[in-house]
Amino acid sequence: MKTNSFISEQELTEQKQIASALSQEIRARNLKFFVETFGCQMNVRDSETIKGWLSLIGYQEAADKETADLILFNTCCVREHAEKRLMGNIGALKELKDANPGMIIGICGCMMQQQDMAKKLLKRFPHVSLIFGTNVLHRFPEMLRAVLNGERIAVTDRADDAIAEDLPKLRDNERSAFVNIMYGCDNYCSYCIVPYVRGHERSRKPEDIRNEIVSLTDSGITEITLLGQNVNSYGNDGSAGMRFADLLRYVSDVPGLKRIRFMSSHPKDLNEDVMQAIASLGNVCHHVHLPVQSGNNEILKRMNRRYTREHYLSIVSRLRELVPDIEFTTDIIVGFPGETEEAFSDTLSLVEEVGFAAAFTFAYSPRLGTVAARMEDQIPESVKKQRLKALNELQARKTVENNLKYIGHIGEVLVEGCDERGEETMLYGKYQNFKMVYFPGCKELLNRYVTVKVTKANKNSLLGEMIDA
Ligand code: SF4
Repeated sequence: MKTNSFISEQELTEQKQIASALSQEIRARNLKFFVETFGCQMNVRDSETIKGWLSLIGYQEAADKETADLILFNTCCVREHAEKRLMGNIGALKELKDANPGMIIGICGCMMQQQDMAKKLLKRFPHVSLIFGTNVLHRFPEMLRAVLNGERIAVTDRADDAIAEDLPKLRDNERSAFVNIMYGCDNYCSYCIVPYVRGHERSRKPEDIRNEIVSLTDSGITEITLLGQNVNSYGNDGSAGMRFADLLRYVSDVPGLKRIRFMSSHPKDLNEDVMQAIASLGNVCHHVHLPVQSGNNEILKRMNRRYTREHYLSIVSRLRELVPDIEFTTDIIVGFPGETEEAFSDTLSLVEEVGFAAAFTFAYSPRLGTVAARMEDQIPESVKKQRLKALNELQARKTVENNLKYIGHIGEVLVEGCDERGEETMLYGKYQNFKMVYFPGCKELLNRYVTVKVTKANKNSLLGEMIDA
């Protein structure tokens, strides 16, 4: 059995003391921050912690970069061109820094964990003074103090893989929250850089997760999304004393918790116990984001996904048997090295067979340092483009088919937002199985649950009417 290490209470107290010591001056100077987040929900969640620290240190949130005294980019390295975009974004801040020489410009996130990246950025952009990686968020006050004292620093060490609990958070959302249940990934899919930059898998203690959820529901949050690179392997190393299905059961009775979502799932670890938990727990949502990546066994093997097409389809059919209204969404990569026309057609046939509610589709792009980037039989860009187009056309047809079956459907929707359309206010929100519906209503219903009947299915969305607020 593995044991994880944790940041000590004493260390955290010291950081909070630094934050408090800095706060008097920051408040007196009325300083403001602006954090821009790229990438996945993990980064969104990390940004909440960074904003929490900044608030504790006395900064207020600025409406835009122009009015900020501290600008921080929380970066992602999973997709192609992210680095180029970041360079452009940072370069563009030079003018703002010239106009406000006291401004602090920082960069953090998983891109900073890539080899030599931090060094390269400090050298190239003299107006950047703070760089840090994903594993040192608990040391934010100490790092900021150094920068306020005139230093330029980069802290991206990986040695510090310990779990930090009780960090401050500033959340924007009053209805819904992300809750990390684990960090890192041990899977080493051959195309993916995440295990190299976010480290090995570490599961949080169940009681810490539950306590966080209790404090969220106490503050009025009713929907949580349990987050991890592969939530289904929660506790597999024995460090948490329970597995993912047990965790779902353990948190599901938190008073006031109406919806539990989770992402992402890895097909190799989504077992019968998890499926039974989804089927039997009233507040676990009937939606699984289950990245398939390819419908061809040879490509799945080269991707090091460690499941077969047949296994994937068996999970889908078993879950549909247990939970008839369940919806699946997925991620798919086309043009992976070695993907033949025949292999690609297996992906199309899988998409046809499953009928995903939505698919996030990508043309393969090599990530430096990964196994797939070194594979010889890379696919020409023009072929990737054609395949992506064909896949997207198929998925668009499947989305329409999926939408059409909802006409007449009645269910509870959590109102997430509104669009003013002339005289009319259109609200939107999701059924518990992730289907989004638009309907006329008034802003006062934001963050509430209402009952909506679907009256029309468009290409990309459902339209409905409220039948009970
Ligand atoms: S499961 Fe695979 S794709 Fe997902 S984060 Fe881990 S290595 Fe990357």
